[in-house]
Amino acid sequence: MKSHAKAVVIGGGVVGASVLYHLSKFGWKDVVLLERSELTAGSTWHAAGGMHTINGDPNVAKLQKYTVDLYKEIEEYSGQDVGLHMTGGVMLAATKERFDWLKSIAGKGKYMGLDAQIISPKEAHDLMPLLDPDQFVGALFDEVEGHLDPYGTTHAYAKSAKKNGAEIHQQTKVERIEQLPDHTWLVHTNQGQIKTEHVVNAGGLWAREVGRMVGLELPVLAMEHMYLITDDMPEVADFNAKRGKEMLHAVDFDGELYLRQERGGMLMGTYEKDCRPWMPYETSWDFSKELLEPDLDRITNELEVGFKHFPAFQHTGIKQIINGPFTFAPDGNPLVGPIQGKRGLWMACGVMAGFSQGGGVGLALANWMIEGDPGFDVFAMDVSRFGDFATLAYTNAKVRENYSRRFSIRFPNEELPAARPLRTTPIYDRQTKLGAQMGVSYGLEVPLWYAPEGVRDEFSWYRSTDFPYVAAEARNVRENVGIIETSGFAKYSVTGKDAAAYLDRLLSNRLPSVGRMTLAPMLKHDGRVIGDFTLGQPYEGEYLLIGSGIAEDYHMRWFAEQAEGYEVNVEAYGPSMAGLSIAGPKARELLQRVTREDVSANGMKFMDLRTMDIGLSSAMVGRVSFTGDLGYELWMEPHDQVHIWDTLINAGEDLGLKPFGLRALNSLRLEKGFGGWASEYRPIYDAYECGLGRFIALDKDADFIGKTAATDHKKLGGSKYKLLTFVVDANNSDVIGDEPILMNGRCVGWVTSGGYAHTSNASVALGYVPKELASKDDGWSIDIIGENHSAKRQANALFDHNGQRMRG
Ligand SMILES: Cc1cc2nc3c(=O)[nH]c(=O)nc-3n(C[C@H](O)[C@H](O)[C@H](O)COP(=O)(O)OP(=O)(O)OC[C@H]3O[C@@H](n4cnc5c(N)ncnc54)[C@H](O)[C@@H]3O)c2cc1C
Repeated sequence: MKSHAKAVVIGGGVVGASVLYHLSKFGWKDVVLLERSELTAGSTWHAAGGMHTINGDPNVAKLQKYTVDLYKEIEEYSGQDVGLHMTGGVMLAATKERFDWLKSIAGKGKYMGLDAQIISPKEAHDLMPLLDPDQFVGALFDEVEGHLDPYGTTHAYAKSAKKNGAEIHQQTKVERIEQLPDHTWLVHTNQGQIKTEHVVNAGGLWAREVGRMVGLELPVLAMEHMYLITDDMPEVADFNAKRGKEMLHAVDFDGELYLRQERGGMLMGTYEKDCRPWMPYETSWDFSKELLEPDLDRITNELEVGFKHFPAFQHTGIKQIINGPFTFAPDGNPLVGPIQGKRGLWMACGVMAGFSQGGGVGLALANWMIEGDPGFDVFAMDVSRFGDFATLAYTNAKVRENYSRRFSIRFPNEELPAARPLRTTPIYDRQTKLGAQMGVSYGLEVPLWYAPEGVRDEFSWYRSTDFPYVAAEARNVRENVGIIETSGFAKYSVTGKDAAAYLDRLLSNRLPSVGRMTLAPMLKHDGRVIGDFTLGQPYEGEYLLIGSGIAEDYHMRWFAEQAEGYEVNVEAYGPSMAGLSIAGPKARELLQRVTREDVSANGMKFMDLRTMDIGLSSAMVGRVSFTGDLGYELWMEPHDQVHIWDTLINAGEDLGLKPFGLRALNSLRLEKGFGGWASEYRPIYDAYECGLGRFIALDKDADFIGKTAATDHKKLGGSKYKLLTFVVDANNSDVIGDEPILMNGRCVGWVTSGGYAHTSNASVALGYVPKELASKDDGWSIDIIGENHSAKRQANALFDHNGQRMRG
């Protein structure tokens, strides 16, 4: 084994092999993979090898499409057979709700160029005669589905990588990983040491233990998973003979099952409700290429449904039952990317569908390591999406929930219960007493809406029980004044000698003067948006940044990377700063009642920021509101939050003050056309595409990150797309996100978010379309749950488009 390498990949499963292949393909030849046993010896060897493109999350679907398309390439390049069987597949719905979901998935597929078709149960039966059409209400057919040989696939990646110059060492166990003072790494193995700039944790079943070698407790847990293989079936032989091809894949969501042909019989696997974590605290290093004891009792319920839905199974024997472990992150998506504060350390683990996603993971990570950017939006699988709330016990609870719900519907208004409540703010009890229905964001309980006694969310694709109550909350903000908790936002302090110089380079706006705030887009070097914040300077040289709560670790990692060479201290307040916001035409009067400070229109102008007394306590108050109304954000230490909440609630009674939740906030921001992080603002759009161009100070002296690219983007009027607001002729359901936008019946764009703007009585969708089409008023339509609805481009904000209410 050599003593130095550019990068060391730990783990020779399908994911590590893919990472190695992509690194070597993109030009890093001096790369080494270390495998403690032999290639595939973790979860890879006993996988069912199934793969497909369809996924509820379009970003993950794109990744899966790339992976599936890659197999021919590595087979040809390596000369290693991957055992590819592209059978096509049907996804089956036994209920109307599930069928609605399939229809929305088919719609989302349109703008990604996927050609999945909605078909009837009879058509599904014609394609896959093992199913009983009477048990289903509809299906989705996709040609790009099949299975392959896990061993052959991993070896095809490995051989391709070796052909490119990479080295692979089997029977080489990494025992310790040490970071040297120059930030490089010394990887200690049972075969000697290797010094390297980059270490990749692709340890699969042992990824958690490899993480612990560098002081990380990764949110990843292995679960037992069973599939059975039947004896040869005459129905299968008959199908093969008559159609001259293999039986199609099938996913039966309501039976929680997946099926495919295995030799002359069938393979049936299930994500059982009665699931079991495997080695929940520590994975034994002695485990290798072993199977677990099958436990048929745990999957009896699912199998009973399976035998009913696929009657031929009733008279077929079971040849073999496989039970093997594989890993999951709390939300079922991979854990990929760099770790803040550990330069050169990369994650490629928690990949629960290695044969659908492994190629995309390898591509993203290799791009990231070589170019400094994954090349597309990978937030859905970025390891930074879990903060320190994701403890071992949290991970255990969420992974079990995720596994058991793998084939269950998650409705857009459905909040999942596991590992909750975990983090709460001091006013949690006060809010729940008032009927707050809580959601969770980045581990914190956040109010979604306020329900009267006895009313709860009914989970649905359509407008639901909350509709009239959210409408009333939104109306009260526009007519009187509302109060909402904002502790879920991310809050950062930026201090130190170089704070201003650092921020001037980090952010593309002009820095605010003392006592003022400004909107602050943050660009990557390629001019695309990596963050959008409100930046304030409450005291000379001290800055407060407010941003998206879910991106706290994601942004902290970026802030830290850019801080090199500056004397600056960036800290996330996290739960140590709480927030409240009041908004509406009577907000000023309310605030004036609880403070001695002059908050009149002239005394406190739009975007002013200062600390003031509130009742017996004090808060930092900024005059800004995401509602687009006259409003204020109040930031305080948690021990002051109850007092400030009570003070405002008491003072606001005769002004009509009422609490509102995030659903009403969403409704209010939609009628202002305000975008949000992770939907409208993402690292794949430039500032002029997403409408943040007006905040980019190209003429400021500082050479801010992305300035050159932004200058070009401005000249182009945005590189490719434009963010538009539409009013949709919807009836009982509004867009959620990712629906296709059509121009004269042709899919040209996609929705990023939307909902019902209650005080404008309009169903609103925000989304991207090619910039050449962006000025067209007519011809637009949007698909919602398989139905086409005409849409009108909305050039101006539906509410207060001159901003008089907000600024007055
Ligand atoms: C029963 C079953 C059925 C499945 N069916 C499918 C399917 O149909 N489709 C699909 O896409 N996925 C399926 N999967 C999941 C799939 O197996 C995983 O997604 C995939 O194997 C993950 O690969 P990996 O490379 O991340 O991990 P692993 O395969 O676990 O590889 C990790 C490797 O790292 C090595 N390693 C760990 N620590 C060290 C160390 N310290 N030093 C050196 N080497 C180390 C291990 O020996 C191991 O070889 C199935 C899994 C199971 C159990």
